[in-house]
Amino acid sequence: MSVLRRFFEISPSPTDTPELALAQWRALSRQVPLMYIMLVANTLILAWTHLDAAPIELTVYIPAALTAICLLRTITWWRSRERVLDPSRVRAKLRGIIWSGAAVALGFTAWSFSLFPYGDAYLQSQIAFYMGITTIGCMFCLMHVRVAALVVGICVLGPFTVFFSATGEETLVAIAINMVLVVAVLLIILLSNSRDFADLVDSRSAIARRQAETLRLGEENQRLANMDTLTGLPNRRSFDRHLATVLQEAELEGRRIVVGRLDLDGFKSINQIFGQLAGDRVLVEAARRIESLRRADSFVARLESNTFGLILVEPIDRQTLVHAGEVLCGAMRLSFEQPEGVIRLTASAGFAVSEPGDTGDQLFDRADYALSAAKREQRGSSVIFSEVHAKEISRVRQMEHLLYSADLDDEIYVVLQPQYDVSLGATTGFEVLARWRSPVLGEISPAEFIPMAERTGRISNVTQSVLRKALAISRTLPPSIRLSVNLSANDIGSTTAIEQIVALFERGRGPCQIDFEVTETAAMRDLKQANQSLLTLLGLGARIALDDFGTGHSSLTHVQQLPLHRIKIDRSFVAEVTNDIASRAIVKTMVDLCRNLGISCVFEGVETEEQLQALVALGGTVMQGYFFGRPMAVDEVDAYLQRERTRRSREDRAAG
Ligand code: C2E
Ligand code: CA
Ligand code: CA
Repeated sequence: MSVLRRFFEISPSPTDTPELALAQWRALSRQVPLMYIMLVANTLILAWTHLDAAPIELTVYIPAALTAICLLRTITWWRSRERVLDPSRVRAKLRGIIWSGAAVALGFTAWSFSLFPYGDAYLQSQIAFYMGITTIGCMFCLMHVRVAALVVGICVLGPFTVFFSATGEETLVAIAINMVLVVAVLLIILLSNSRDFADLVDSRSAIARRQAETLRLGEENQRLANMDTLTGLPNRRSFDRHLATVLQEAELEGRRIVVGRLDLDGFKSINQIFGQLAGDRVLVEAARRIESLRRADSFVARLESNTFGLILVEPIDRQTLVHAGEVLCGAMRLSFEQPEGVIRLTASAGFAVSEPGDTGDQLFDRADYALSAAKREQRGSSVIFSEVHAKEISRVRQMEHLLYSADLDDEIYVVLQPQYDVSLGATTGFEVLARWRSPVLGEISPAEFIPMAERTGRISNVTQSVLRKALAISRTLPPSIRLSVNLSANDIGSTTAIEQIVALFERGRGPCQIDFEVTETAAMRDLKQANQSLLTLLGLGARIALDDFGTGHSSLTHVQQLPLHRIKIDRSFVAEVTNDIASRAIVKTMVDLCRNLGISCVFEGVETEEQLQALVALGGTVMQGYFFGRPMAVDEVDAYLQRERTRRSREDRAAG
């Protein structure tokens, strides 16, 4: 009984998991047709052996009807084996099997018993054998839905035991007992088999679920790895991959594509002024605006903090591209309304059209160059990479190569620009400015080759060459005249470069007449290292001036931390001092600052008498600029100083 209880209690059908119901359905749809074929065959054999003994209704009509029902069911099952059903329908069908199984079992049992009175002992034994073996066969076929197997077993075995026991015939009673035993054992085996089947299905569906989860996670990772999480746009990695693919396709089809870079100008200061959250929201909104302008076949990505990348695959002429650039940059000029305030910015863009044989990197670099040209020359609008840019690039490359292989001591020469102290009425020093005369390219401005030397790691050689010349010149000058040599960020950021400078000083003995100029940005790059380098230079007897003051982002507290003897106020303030009250106020503050710090103050770029008067009125004393003298060749310095001496003695005589 407990077996029966367990059988029903833990019966997985038809209420168990959808996966199990489906698996049962699949197994049954293979086995049930076989079961019906076996049932029909056995029934026909039994009817045939009773043909002469029993009436025609029992041997032909009823078996024919039962066979027809079975064949109908067989066809239905056979057809349904390929059908995809949803779990709830499968459950309903499984429940149906239980009832139809009971009905079929009872029908066949009743028919079998109806034949019993007509046969002799052999035929009666055949009926018992037919019922027993067929029931076992059917239960076996239904084993995956054990409730159905049990119902069939009970529907046949119950009446079977009662019927044959009631005959009082020993052989038949024995057969009934055999039958009960066999079916009991069969039920136990079915119980464990169907449990194994359920476990198997469970573990298979668990594996399938895990696989699906792994696949989902993999896809999610893939999506995240290719997406910029802030804006939801594709990221740089995805951009590079997409570019390689579309470029290859375009190459095969002989088409051209366009790569664009769009940069939000001065974005760093938005973060500083409005905070990073506001900055992030601006980026999200900028991404939305670009995305809304995108054509379906174009591609937009966020490449880095405030730079977006575009790939246009449709054929586009120059005129349309110019227009697209205007629309894009125009969309960025619309104000960004934020809780922190209204943010206004501009965006610059660079475009490059692909050439046959281009790699993604080459195309991207050209768009990048066009972007820097836009930033340099037409901030807030777009530039398309052109032949002129290609020539510029090849000139820069050639220049880089020439600078790298140049004999710097031979090709670099210096010019000197006087620094004039108004209060003394005399030149107190000269700034040493480097010039490069390339045998191939001719004269090249320091504004061009100094940044290049910094970029290519050649700058400390340039510095040493200039310093060697400055040291040589200083020996020919009156002891009161000092020479100011410019140092770059790489010089003061490197202990080796400073050691090389010290070595040069040690070679040329005598009182030091050399000063150094460093820019704020160079000093701020690594304040600690800069401080150390400057202290070493001070130890040589040199003095330090802070160049281009007012153009960087350094604060006055930083200035106080450096061992400075002088500040050089950038010429942008001097240019405005005569016509801008704000510039005058700034200049006044700077003069006061220097006085408070006990250091001197030099004004750069003094070009006119008016500027000089304005600066003197604000307390300025030391001046440098075209008004006092343009940078001059070394051999002109003597004559310059001589002229000054003559002028002074004339003035002294006139005064005296
Ligand atoms: P800087 O150190 O600010 O040098 C001053 C620049 O302003 C020089 O340009 C000078 O010719 C120019 N200048 C002087 N007075 C006036 C004026 O009244 N009006 C105008 N409009 N300009 C004036 P230069 O010689 O072309 O040098 C450009 C920059 O190149 C320098 O700016 C400096 O940063 C760098 N540089 C020059 N020589 C060296 C060097 O030997 N080493 C390093 N590291 N940098 C150097
Ligand atoms: Ca300078
Ligand atoms: Ca300067």
